[in-house]
Amino acid sequence: MRILITGGTGFIGQALCPLLAGQGHQLVLLSRQQKPRLPRGVTDHVQKLDALERDSVQAVINLAGAGIADQRWTPERKQELVDSRVNTTRQLVDWMKEQSLPPKVLISASAVGYYGEQGDAEITEATPPIPGFTHDLCRAWEQEALQAEAAGIRVCLVRTGVVLDQGGGSLGRMLLPFRLGLGGRLGNGQHWFPWIHRQDIAAIYAWLLKQDEARGAYNASAPQPVTNEAFTRALGKALHRPTLFPMPEKMLRLLFGELAELLLVSDRMLPQRLLQEGYRFQYPELNQALRAILR
Ligand code: NDP
Repeated sequence: MRILITGGTGFIGQALCPLLAGQGHQLVLLSRQQKPRLPRGVTDHVQKLDALERDSVQAVINLAGAGIADQRWTPERKQELVDSRVNTTRQLVDWMKEQSLPPKVLISASAVGYYGEQGDAEITEATPPIPGFTHDLCRAWEQEALQAEAAGIRVCLVRTGVVLDQGGGSLGRMLLPFRLGLGGRLGNGQHWFPWIHRQDIAAIYAWLLKQDEARGAYNASAPQPVTNEAFTRALGKALHRPTLFPMPEKMLRLLFGELAELLLVSDRMLPQRLLQEGYRFQYPELNQALRAILR
């Protein structure tokens, strides 16, 4: 199948593209860059949707969006976070609907941020969200993707937890302080941390593509979420380093402003639909995932 991938140059795309190419799919990336560094398995890219030959794509994966934790959340940055997802998805869906033979499926990224602060409550796809910036962003983003259903396109929304691997993402940012023995829990460490191994998130996209009956929202994080304190201990253990330096909540808020929300929010997310519908996690357990990543 020929699959169009937006944001495929990013952290998830770099794992997903080789996986899909290995399954025999032909991939074309939509990238803002003139000469993007193409992930393994990709030979084709366009900068604009109208550069694509009509009716040449059978599936679309939508990963594009400005990095949520890359910069402080000023009002301008927040607008960019929204626009880079909502507007990009709208243009993508409009283009899909204009095709005489529209793609059959759209798998579109969303985030655990959809649910907002949920304390210790277990979160399934049916959990009512708590309003706030990340919820409003994810909801608007998902709503744009769902517009494709009007053209008979199957839509899956991947509410992604924190993706862990070497070479980028949140773990990439944490490794240096932890390796230096300067790691520690954030705030009181009691907030839940919905992590997922990068190989699993890539495999989930590939799996949803094949499930003709799958549609709607899927929680995509490991079936065993942990608290920030447990995560801190596990990472210290995997690196053979002490984790004696907690970062007080006040300090986080001073350093990161509103972005600190992202580090302190509690989301005990469970991948209920994925488990019920038969997806098997390669890395269900944190210590095993960290060992594989840091090997
Ligand atoms: P990355 O930040 O690594 O990459 C996303 C891609 O989006 C970039 O490679 C870039 O592609 C494109 N992009 C960047 N800025 C903009 C912009 N301003 N406008 C349009 N496109 C832009 O993301 P990930 O691979 O980590 O994640 C993919 C999706 O999954 C994202 O939407 C993210 O929000 C979501 N997600 C990721 C999580 C994680 O832990 N990684 C957690 C929860 C959700 P190019 O330069 O080629 O155009």
